[in-house]
Amino acid sequence: MAKLRTLPSVNRLLEDAPDALVRAHGRALVLYAIQEVLSQERESGSVSDASDRWKGVEAIIEALRQPALRACINATGVILHTNLGRAPLAEEAAQAAHRIARGYATLEIDPGTGRRGIRHDAVSPVLTYLTGAEDAAVVNNGAAATLLMLTALARGREVIVSRGELVEIGGAFRMPEIMRLSGSRMVEVGTTNRTRVKDYEAAITPKTAAILKVHTSNFQVVGFTENAGLKELAVLAQQHGVLLLEDLGSGALLDSAPFGLAPEPRVQESIAAGVDLVACSADKMLGGPQAGLLLGRATLIATVLKHPLARAVRVDKMTLAALLATLDLYLTQAYSLLPVWRMIALAPGKIADRAAAWKSRLEEDGVTTELEPGESTVGGGSLPGERLPTTLLALKLPKSRAGAVLDALRRQTLPVIARVHDGRVVLDPRTVLEGEDDALLAAIRTAVS
Ligand SMILES: *Cc1c(COP(=O)(O)O)cnc(C)c1O
Repeated sequence: MAKLRTLPSVNRLLEDAPDALVRAHGRALVLYAIQEVLSQERESGSVSDASDRWKGVEAIIEALRQPALRACINATGVILHTNLGRAPLAEEAAQAAHRIARGYATLEIDPGTGRRGIRHDAVSPVLTYLTGAEDAAVVNNGAAATLLMLTALARGREVIVSRGELVEIGGAFRMPEIMRLSGSRMVEVGTTNRTRVKDYEAAITPKTAAILKVHTSNFQVVGFTENAGLKELAVLAQQHGVLLLEDLGSGALLDSAPFGLAPEPRVQESIAAGVDLVACSADKMLGGPQAGLLLGRATLIATVLKHPLARAVRVDKMTLAALLATLDLYLTQAYSLLPVWRMIALAPGKIADRAAAWKSRLEEDGVTTELEPGESTVGGGSLPGERLPTTLLALKLPKSRAGAVLDALRRQTLPVIARVHDGRVVLDPRTVLEGEDDALLAAIRTAVS
């Protein structure tokens, strides 16, 4: 305990604090870190020497100031990686968000008349043009769109849904729970693998508000399956005066088939088939910012927007700006400017060339790697089971080091997220953005050394 008496006072240390430290972080933060370090020393009963103590102070400050949210390099080959923020925005969309974020915006004012507008007015004309829907609204995310749709249109009444479509989309988003939360009563029909139109028909009662179709976006049921088609369900719904609603999940606007993928259902197909209201995400295959879209009949959009929940899940101006700029690329068919579609469309030869270039650059630094054929995925609850052929860069290391190297890659200033395949650390060029090569290779060199 004698040693503890030699602990300097907070004030002494603050006076001694290097000028550069105070200038960089401000007095208050330096003071806080000094207090923390001293109390740690007091608790542990061991007094540090001065230089270790200042290192401790800096570490505490850094932990607070180095934001936990940082840009990272996605070398996983999963294009829509929910943990990594799903769709990277097009440059045009990122710039639009930046422009609008920095100042005031005509978010709820019509510049032509000076009258109060609503924020959905900005996106509605574009979305109706692109999808054929009568009207559209934007909310915070896909889950909010589905919840709002069910709450505003089916609260206190019955909603019929197939047992094959009671999906869980990660975490707490489970269809039966969303239905309960909306205050509607779920009426399950059919079986896991087969649900026919007559199953829905038999379940319609005077209390039915809607039939809900849910895109089983993250799994596949193969084999003996049957699904009621949207067109037949639309006819059925109309005959009985109930609504046909759809949670479409990904909400693609482009046809994925020409890219060698299974067709992901598109918003315009649902609208054309007669769905009354479609809910989907904007940051999956649409390639925009996190948002949820509602598309369909104008009267339903109006009802939904009047519900108090709409206010609780509304989008902000930055999101709207990024979404409009993303949709503008669809208007002009400039799809190659959308990172998600650019990555999907990447030619296998181009990916192989890039992987080979990485390999030879790393070789120059004595890092041995191998190229191996592999598979990228779309991810984000889109196109389950679909794979895109790619070339992986595999680090040649003892298998026992794979976990440690994966961690080291992630701990770089610009974290690199890779994956382990067959006991080897592999990196997929498909999802590494243009211009990230140097940082990626530097991270690999550090991580393996
Ligand atoms: C992804 C998904 C959701 C949730 O959308 P978020 O934008 O993540 O909130 C809901 N339903 C389906 C079918 C989905 O695929």
